[in-house]
Amino acid sequence: MVLSKIASQSDVSVHSTFASRYVRESLPRYKMPENSIPKEAAFQIINDELMLDGNPRLNLASFVTTWMEPECDKLIMDSINKNYVDMDEYPVTTELQNRCVNIIAHLFNAPLGESEAAVGVGTVGSSEAIMLAGLAFKRKWQNKRKAEGKPYDKPNIVTGANVQVCWEKFARYFEVELKEVKLTEDYYVMDPVKAAEMVDENTICVAAILGSTLNGEFEDVKLLNDLLVEKNRITGWDTPIHVDAASGGFIAPFLWPDLEWDFRLPLVKSINVSGHKYGLVYAGVGWVIWRSKEDLPEELIFHINYLGTDQPTFTLNFSKGSSQIIAQYYQLIRLGYEGYRNVMENCHENAMMLKEGLEKTGRFKIVSKDIGVPLVAFSLVDKSWGHDEFEIAETLRRFGWIVPAYTMPADAKHITVLRVVIREDFSRTLAERLVHDITKVLHELDSLPAKLSAKISVKSEENGKINDTEAGKNGTTVVKKTATETQREITTYWRNFVMAKKSNRNKIC
Ligand SMILES: *Cc1c(COP(=O)(O)O)cnc(C)c1O
Repeated sequence: MVLSKIASQSDVSVHSTFASRYVRESLPRYKMPENSIPKEAAFQIINDELMLDGNPRLNLASFVTTWMEPECDKLIMDSINKNYVDMDEYPVTTELQNRCVNIIAHLFNAPLGESEAAVGVGTVGSSEAIMLAGLAFKRKWQNKRKAEGKPYDKPNIVTGANVQVCWEKFARYFEVELKEVKLTEDYYVMDPVKAAEMVDENTICVAAILGSTLNGEFEDVKLLNDLLVEKNRITGWDTPIHVDAASGGFIAPFLWPDLEWDFRLPLVKSINVSGHKYGLVYAGVGWVIWRSKEDLPEELIFHINYLGTDQPTFTLNFSKGSSQIIAQYYQLIRLGYEGYRNVMENCHENAMMLKEGLEKTGRFKIVSKDIGVPLVAFSLVDKSWGHDEFEIAETLRRFGWIVPAYTMPADAKHITVLRVVIREDFSRTLAERLVHDITKVLHELDSLPAKLSAKISVKSEENGKINDTEAGKNGTTVVKKTATETQREITTYWRNFVMAKKSNRNKIC
């Protein structure tokens, strides 16, 4: 999105490199140009500018698919002009989406009869899927409360503090209170015991995550289910569970088929999964599946007929592309169970290899789990090193790697981690190369003076001077100091640094 800011003079126009053969004048950056330009020029201008984007394959920050087979790329391009919502005009595309919904529902062990159709819908991603699932829970809860003559104006949802931002969006946009189970120093996912304790009569559902965004760990859905069954029995409520399987939904069924996290558990009423993560499709597809018809209130479904025959829809957006759905169907039939299992096993093995490589350096503590999303999350063991995870991430960029560093949510905020997501296109060779480059970065930083801010912040942390109310929005710690204090620290630091350099030189000479 665009938030307004004042443009500097150099921001005002778009200059082009090769396109200058076609256009003499620069294009205005934020205003529509007066005249048309040749198509070659438009292509060249945009192509030149896009060269500065990172390489998606080296983007280790993202779970989202960056590679598909050329045959599928062709199907995608061939259907790029089909609007998915025109179901009557493109009945085959609709049929493919229905097949995907059914395949995924079976994968998640939905209790479907022999000829019974699954209930679910394709979405733009897990975020939309979660909004829809959340709305269904809210409406179901409201209907029940109304029927009982009880107030229905204070719905809440219980999650771990590690939830993905889309849950916070759902809560704010649709006015549901988000009750977050706090994390602790060594436990970075929702504790089912605490979650069950937080449930009250206004809880529309508990959302468990299969594959926490922060460290890939699977939450214990089975334990949560058992605790809630018991709580429901005692209280007479029927608090359900939603599983956010955005990343884990296409992993657990292939790597740990015996792990019970899905519709095998009676309180799991809906599940979302991102087709564009381990579903192996490019960005723009997600799925939400309901356990049965009864779990999706009829009044949320709209019936449209102005594009032809009656079509039921439950989505937030009206129009959208068909390509992603076609691509999802391609992957499901092309790979089959065997193919998905091979891809996931490969990813898992590469993650284990990377993990071992990082452990061997002796410098990192691994905070991801062996059973979970194939990623490696790790933080520095030595907090007084003088360099931090952010510096490692920054230095790695010089080698072309994009590895994010971030702080954990409230209550574990002082923990910073680096995270490498292993996707299908991350080969073993790349994993070896990455360990090699991280080792290089460590050595390079070893020989550099400590990062000033890190030093100061560590020092004053020891003095217990961290002012919590000053904590930055992005989770960084802001240390409150007087100007003279800071000045003095910087001067002393630099004096020592220069002296050390001088004495070193003397030694060498
Ligand atoms: C990625 C992710 C989401 C959001 O999914 P999109 O498909 O990107 O909208 C939600 N929850 C979890 C756990 C995720 O990992």
